[in-house]
Amino acid sequence: MRLETGVAPVGDSIEVIDPATEQVITRLPSAGPEDADRAVARAKASFKTWRDVAAGDRATLLRRVGAAVEAHATDLARLESRNAGKPIGDALGEIGMVAATFAYYAGAPERLTGKTIPVPGGVNMTFKEPMGVVALITPWNFPLAIASWGVAPALAAGNTVVLKPAQLTPLTALELERTALEAGLPEGVFNVVAGQGSVVGERLVDHPDVAKITFTGSTAVGKRISARAARTVKRVTLELGGKSANIVFADADLERAAAAAPSAVFGNAGQDCCARSRILVERSVMDDFLDLLSTGVASMRVGDPMDETTEMGPLITAEHRSKVASFLDDDTTVVARGTAPEGPGFWFAPTVVTPNSPGARAVAEEIFGPIACVLPFDGEDEAISIANDTIYGLSGSIWTENGARALRVARALEAGTLSVNSNWSVRIATPYGGFKQSGTGRALGPDALDYYTELKNVYIAT
Ligand code: NAP
Ligand code: MG
Repeated sequence: MRLETGVAPVGDSIEVIDPATEQVITRLPSAGPEDADRAVARAKASFKTWRDVAAGDRATLLRRVGAAVEAHATDLARLESRNAGKPIGDALGEIGMVAATFAYYAGAPERLTGKTIPVPGGVNMTFKEPMGVVALITPWNFPLAIASWGVAPALAAGNTVVLKPAQLTPLTALELERTALEAGLPEGVFNVVAGQGSVVGERLVDHPDVAKITFTGSTAVGKRISARAARTVKRVTLELGGKSANIVFADADLERAAAAAPSAVFGNAGQDCCARSRILVERSVMDDFLDLLSTGVASMRVGDPMDETTEMGPLITAEHRSKVASFLDDDTTVVARGTAPEGPGFWFAPTVVTPNSPGARAVAEEIFGPIACVLPFDGEDEAISIANDTIYGLSGSIWTENGARALRVARALEAGTLSVNSNWSVRIATPYGGFKQSGTGRALGPDALDYYTELKNVYIAT
């Protein structure tokens, strides 16, 4: 039986599908709980030696992994593009980011220092100790990039890693495991287990020898993992959903804001947790903005991910496409629509809607597909209040030529990762993560290391 999700239970195997053609790319054995246990045992055994590898040597190995990823970048990008349906140009950018993330965190082992704090009768010293075995559970939208955001800092801090990629897109993670071994990373330090989330994922969350879980995915699964992890008081970092606002004030450079808006919501076919899927436009410029946006949406190139000129590929599965389509209901009016190929492939044209009622699902819920919802506002206070009227708080943008207003609004928004006169959220050197139900903890930048270390305090009586 072929499931609508694209993952078929062919015995104990995972059927990996190309979402642009609906063809099977390959079948893999699906890991079970005993495979998860074996991976944790390997990671636990290798932790004893990895944590004591001299910081400079750990740095060298991470640099080598980054260089090996770069050397295989074209193949890795093709594989990612084919499996996730993403444009090849985007895939190359993501694989470049994977290599750069290893290079960035290669700078960390030699800079992980503590503090010396004089106290009455002695001195305290603090140490950032590795935690042990870190388990990463990752999604299908940016498969290898998001994996690297966890693998690189976790290894840099002296932990060992078990990674469970999404069943829909496990291929580049498995390649990374091979590449890292080739680059000289000791056996058992980084382990990939491809299997079902409710089986392998939950096993890792429950496992007494796993010290920390980093989960990237839906808010629903994140809550479940958080509750389960509490049973063993595991450390948890959660990168979850979003419903980010792209706020365009009347004093903004309207052409720039409109030109940047489509890629901020239709990039990766909208399957992006920091998609600016609510576009808030000051009422006086609404008509002009919609004209510009509609022109941009109509000219988007949607099609073959392997074509270098393609801007948007298909959605990940037929089931996901049905979910996305369900947002075009009686509560919304379509105001602009691009084009998409006929099947096969899970295509969906980029679409702009306005809500007919305040209760429209497209306003409140994360769509995770190429639908932008445009809303008018009157004045700064209303913009802030609409933007914050969500359970999420991942990212957002502010477009204005008034610098004081930009900072005022940025401070008032309940979101972790904001940009002014840009929709760019993710940079390797800066922290990324959410407020409210978008998650807890931060990825990337120097701060991510705090989430892969335990702070130890030693008092010495003098
Ligand atoms: P998902 O269903 O939550 O799955 C994410 C990962 O969790 C997959 O590897 C999945 O395994 C696994 N999983 C599922 N159920 C599990 C369970 N009970 N215990 C442990 N692991 C479990 O999310 P998705 O559908 O892949 O991705 C879409 C969602 O992720 C969106 O809501 C999006 O906003 C969010 N997301 C957030 C970020 C961020 O950085 N904030 C980034 C990307 C995506 P299998 O699917 O393989 O079974
Ligand atoms: Mg899922």
